Amino acid sequence: MNIRRLVKPNIRGLKAYRAEEIPCRVKLDANESPYGFSVLRSVRINRYPDPEAKTLRGLVAREFRVKPENILHGNGSDELIYNLIATFGGPTAYPVPTFSMYGILSQALNETGIEIPLDEKFDLDTERFLGVIKKRKPKLIFLSSPNNPTGNRFSSDRIWKIIKASKGMVVVDEAYQPFSGRNEFLPLLGKYGNLIVLRTLSKIGLAGLRVGFMMAGADIINEVNKVRLPFNLNSLSQHVAVAALRNRERMRSYIRSVVSERKRLFKEMKKTEGIEPYPSQANFILFRIRGNAGSVSANRNAADRIYEGLLHKGILVRNMKGIFDGCLRVTIGTPRENTAFLKALRQLL
Ligand SMILES: *Cc1c(COP(=O)(O)O)cnc(C)c1O
Repeated sequence: MNIRRLVKPNIRGLKAYRAEEIPCRVKLDANESPYGFSVLRSVRINRYPDPEAKTLRGLVAREFRVKPENILHGNGSDELIYNLIATFGGPTAYPVPTFSMYGILSQALNETGIEIPLDEKFDLDTERFLGVIKKRKPKLIFLSSPNNPTGNRFSSDRIWKIIKASKGMVVVDEAYQPFSGRNEFLPLLGKYGNLIVLRTLSKIGLAGLRVGFMMAGADIINEVNKVRLPFNLNSLSQHVAVAALRNRERMRSYIRSVVSERKRLFKEMKKTEGIEPYPSQANFILFRIRGNAGSVSANRNAADRIYEGLLHKGILVRNMKGIFDGCLRVTIGTPRENTAFLKALRQLL
């Protein structure tokens, strides 16, 4: 696949900014302050961060079994989504409902976002995707799997069908992959020239750091790297992310506890009259509130009432009004938090 032909003309002619690193004894080249103070013992924040995040990318490469040249680091994966749209342009296409940034950033960058409704099982409507691919030739397709806010994974064969049919890039956003456990796209990066995988540290305990990664063929990485700001990932975030990745056991045990709590919460919610929880492979559960009358507007009002009632008891969930009317989304918390949520929910119903 000829990647360069897909890239926006203004990006095609660009060269990536290279912050050269020349070893030296006296460093007077970058308008930094010479008066250093270090934090966390070793982070010298009077100096600019490593523009290429080499240590971090090296660790991620080992963890994900890909090469460092197949990884690009972002200030969260949000930034990588922005950079992808800046590089390839539109139209972009994505199922709805899904993660709102695909639409917001398409619009912010003045590109058309094509919304393709999910089917009744919250899976991809392959026919409609193939139709859009044929007629409108989207430069970028965004597939969040597991999907936010529905929580399900899309069927693999549908995703592969879309990857094979698309003449543009297909971005599989695996923000919630750690909670679903399945890893089927990264191992096949080399085989599909238009496949891009997104991962983030945000959902596994490090949201405040803002660290995300994009994995793709080196030709794609090189193009997107041209629009990346040179020092997009600050020294502290790089340092802490490296420390966290070296301490994988702690992160893994956190992920295990979220998954086991998700199973418990789902079972309990399933037993609860008046709501319908949807199966989730992520760290949240989407659930529908059934209004007494059963009509759409009654359901919407009932969902608002439960949302307000929970908040009144100090429990904040996400009201999906406007995105998924009549539904609320609850993030998996500690066992104690989840029990408090359940208790409050049952009182309100
Ligand atoms: C939360 C989320 C992100 C954003 O992740 P950051 O790395 O924090 O920017 C990306 N994609 C999906 C589907 C998400 O739900």
